[in-house]
Amino acid sequence: MIHHHPADHHLLALASGQMDSGRGFVVSAHVETCRVCQRRLQEFLAVGGEVLQASEPVNVSADAFAQTLRRIDAGLPAAAAITATPTPVGFPRECVTLLPSRLLQGCTGQPWRWIGPGMRYSAIEIPHAAQSNVFLLKIAPGRTMPRHSHGGCEFTQILSGSFNDGRARFDAGDFDETDPHVTHQPVVTDEGECICLAYLDAPLRFESWVARAAARWTGFQN
Ligand SMILES: [Zn+2]
Repeated sequence: MIHHHPADHHLLALASGQMDSGRGFVVSAHVETCRVCQRRLQEFLAVGGEVLQASEPVNVSADAFAQTLRRIDAGLPAAAAITATPTPVGFPRECVTLLPSRLLQGCTGQPWRWIGPGMRYSAIEIPHAAQSNVFLLKIAPGRTMPRHSHGGCEFTQILSGSFNDGRARFDAGDFDETDPHVTHQPVVTDEGECICLAYLDAPLRFESWVARAAARWTGFQN
């Protein structure tokens, strides 16, 4: 059962096409697997339709609302262009099955890259949004991530496994958002490795100089 969902204002931004590609990619990955958020999106779309009908005529594209519906139906972020590429390229094999296939259309992944004991990451390139800062993380069972705060916001969709960061336990299907006010230290449960999809709009701030040096050395962050 999913316990953690994106806030309504994020779903509204996705529904109205006002969310950038990186955020939209992670929120869309959540919505694809969450019936609760799918219903919320439909509610927002219905409200949006009533507002449009009640409004004074404005000069908008005749099929603007239909385009939004198609984007939501496709589960894709508004700013991410849909290409004809049939299969994702370069992704770790287990992640291809964990992510919605239509979300990955046109995307390019990378093989797992070592960033520390029991920790690997793989950057994702979204079509026409090369700097979207979306990536996959794979953490071994029982592994503790370095304690860190955030220079900006971080969206995380848990694809498999689970972790607890002291605020809550997050399981597969859950969504988490952190911001500069949150300092945490995720600990993966012993039940299995944890794979997450994440977006960062600013580098993490590791408290330990060792973690900072390792992050730079491995290319995990600049
Ligand atoms: Zn949800």
